[in-house]
Amino acid sequence: MRGRCVLKILLIEDEPRVARAVQEGLQAEGFRVTIAATGEDGFFRATTEPYDLILLDLMLPGRDGLEILTALRAQKSATPVLVLTARDTVQDRVCGLDAGADDYLIKPFAFPELLARIRALARRGRSDAPPRFVLADLALDVVARTCVRNGQNIQLTNREFDLLEYLLRHAGHTVTREMLARDVWQVTERMTPLNNVIDVHIARLRAKMDTPFTSRLLRTIRGVGFVLAEETS
Ligand code: CA
Repeated sequence: MRGRCVLKILLIEDEPRVARAVQEGLQAEGFRVTIAATGEDGFFRATTEPYDLILLDLMLPGRDGLEILTALRAQKSATPVLVLTARDTVQDRVCGLDAGADDYLIKPFAFPELLARIRALARRGRSDAPPRFVLADLALDVVARTCVRNGQNIQLTNREFDLLEYLLRHAGHTVTREMLARDVWQVTERMTPLNNVIDVHIARLRAKMDTPFTSRLLRTIRGVGFVLAEETS
């Protein structure tokens, strides 16, 4: 299957509980996450393996986050770095950005906020290769915001486009209504769930990009959610 680009993330964080929670959360979103528990290990991995993004805790035993960041930038590493810091002081932020951080997030942070920052950095980092998703005869160009299936242009609303992009990013994996509510609608707390709204949009999307074609790509997993994948016979 093409069209699925797995983002490789290096998480440099010494607190096992935090590291595991972040890792599990990001893996559930389809990212591949490696944990380094010390600055030394983090620096070694960052300089020997290719990562799309580094999440860097500042308070580390031994070589701290700022030292690691300075050393990475001195080596001309261009990997985007998102600094995670518990020290909410202006000075630390300025130091982090001066040392070459692309963004920072104050601990404790809400997971959707982390996700939003990661996506923003990932988009920036990939600007040389405009994201284009292809699945069977379906192609989605995220920059031109066009959707083509079997040579036909398909007009989507913004919401439908975002929905389809999200499904393509998770192609082959089940996407729950909770994930869609959180990441596409960006609603985390609401009295009434968005399920009906989501189902209506899915139905409209399906009527445009799936039903008119011979094979089915979008399937509903009853009681769970949706999956976009090539039909297997
Ligand atoms: Ca720490």
